Amino acid sequence: MQLNIDRLIAYFGGVNALAEALKQHYPDSAASTAAIYKWRKRGSLPLNQLQKIILMAEKQNKPLDINAFMQHNNITLERPRMPSTNNQVIIFDTTLRDGEQSPGAAMTKEEKIRIARQLEKLGVDVIEAGFAAASPGDFDAIHSIAEIIQHATVCSLSRANERDVRKAGEAVAPAKRKRIHTFIATSPLHMEHKLRMKPQQVKETAVKAVKIAREYTDDVEFSCEDALRSDINFLAEICQAVIEAGATTINIPDTVGYAIPFQTEAFFRELIQKTPNSDKVIWSAHCHNDLGLAVGNSLAAVSGGARQVECTINGLGERAGNASLEEVVMALKTRHDIFGLETNIDTTQIVPTSKMVSTVTGYPIQPNKAIVGANAFAHESGIHQDGILKCRETYEIMSAESVGWSTNRLTLGKLSGRNAFRTKLQELGIELDSEEALNAAFARFKELADKKREIFDEDLHALVSDELESRAPDRYKYISLSIRSETGEEPVAEIVFNLDGNEKRASGHGSGPIDAVFKAIESEAHSSADLQLYSVNAITAGPESQGEVTVRLSREGHLVSGQGTDTDIIVASAKAYLSALNKLNSQPRVKAQGII
Ligand SMILES: [Zn+2]
Repeated sequence: MQLNIDRLIAYFGGVNALAEALKQHYPDSAASTAAIYKWRKRGSLPLNQLQKIILMAEKQNKPLDINAFMQHNNITLERPRMPSTNNQVIIFDTTLRDGEQSPGAAMTKEEKIRIARQLEKLGVDVIEAGFAAASPGDFDAIHSIAEIIQHATVCSLSRANERDVRKAGEAVAPAKRKRIHTFIATSPLHMEHKLRMKPQQVKETAVKAVKIAREYTDDVEFSCEDALRSDINFLAEICQAVIEAGATTINIPDTVGYAIPFQTEAFFRELIQKTPNSDKVIWSAHCHNDLGLAVGNSLAAVSGGARQVECTINGLGERAGNASLEEVVMALKTRHDIFGLETNIDTTQIVPTSKMVSTVTGYPIQPNKAIVGANAFAHESGIHQDGILKCRETYEIMSAESVGWSTNRLTLGKLSGRNAFRTKLQELGIELDSEEALNAAFARFKELADKKREIFDEDLHALVSDELESRAPDRYKYISLSIRSETGEEPVAEIVFNLDGNEKRASGHGSGPIDAVFKAIESEAHSSADLQLYSVNAITAGPESQGEVTVRLSREGHLVSGQGTDTDIIVASAKAYLSALNKLNSQPRVKAQGII
């Protein structure tokens, strides 16, 4: 993009008028008429002169919207016509299903409910709440979410077999709007080696699954697993068959993250054109990020006619993850000039949602992550900062406020009462299930407010996570801790915790205080688990911030992560380790044989 100098000069009434105005405002350093002619000839002007013009326009009370003077070089965006007249893109969030398949990101039912509530506040159209047939725990979580969610559609994944589909149907039954999402692999590789089925059998299986799903709801989605590596003529055939059987959304996943955007766009166009009755369904994209192209492919699919994008908060998901919701949504919004499409997302809820998902799953957000990374809107280098102060649009294509960055605001202080606390939790979408739970959380809040003067939204999310965790009928519960650490000597930790209702005291030496704490716990726990990951994050800015520790443990292929928060990171580490031990004792879930 380039500044259109001609139009800028015309805005001030021509070369002479601009030179005259500049002279009045900057008697000592105004650009001459000759200089302005040169800018026009060159098609550019020095940045400091642009800043002067911007400031002058403000003083003249005719502020400059610099974007209005930008031109798209000489590139004409000759695109084929959008193949769909529908200008609404459905945002299908699968953080609770595909996102949860990230190693160690398993969530409890309470955590899933909190995230689902926040997703509804964010304005997602469909919440894929889980995979009902995976375990009774998954079924239960989907069922509870279906009872609570008011506006969004609640969806369960299911393989294309009768048992799975019926489980999914029962799990979403209480929802006001419900969807069953069934899938089967369609690529030659998957059909031959995984399913050991002929294409014709695959088609029959898909049709049967869709028909059973229709017994439970009119809203049925069908996915062709590994679609981007499937034969397009076979896809058109199977899509035609499932549309006839009653599918209302057809999802074309790039299961292995192999596609390249221009190819994806062409693929969607061709498939939609080849499929009879393609206008009877919404076409959907589901892209994985193995080559870092998930968002690019999702947007390309939209250009090719998709009107649903499946994505996750923070791009969470197996391997390199899924398309990131925040990036897809902000690309559609910021480049409305290209796409001309709408979503129902309240973008100011993006950052709070991202932080909640990061806290709950223990997956930190890299600082340079687009939209939600800590550096995404911070302009450190001098020239940028100067430009930003004078005119936001010089370097910012969207504002930090528009995605919710300003929500890192003071929420409660030491003197806040119980009512203010309750109201704030409601605002944050946190509902505790009893007065007792509220009282316990309030007591914790008071304790925290003694250590930390300012309490932010993020602190409250962390506090409630901790509170819910400590109320679960867990084997291990933290009580207290003391550390002796002196330069030149090995630190010693003494920890008191509850194990199956009995108070245990343990001590341990280590190379550092945290190592000493973990060894002390293990001297009683004997878990024989391996420590896979240890990370600390500051929840908010400033030296008083609470530390949030994630500990990931593995034992015989079972991977879990525990979180702990405290203003003291050694205490947070002890809590995180105990929380991981509790999860290690839970039953590993049945993983679907194939998954999109
Ligand atoms: Zn996936």
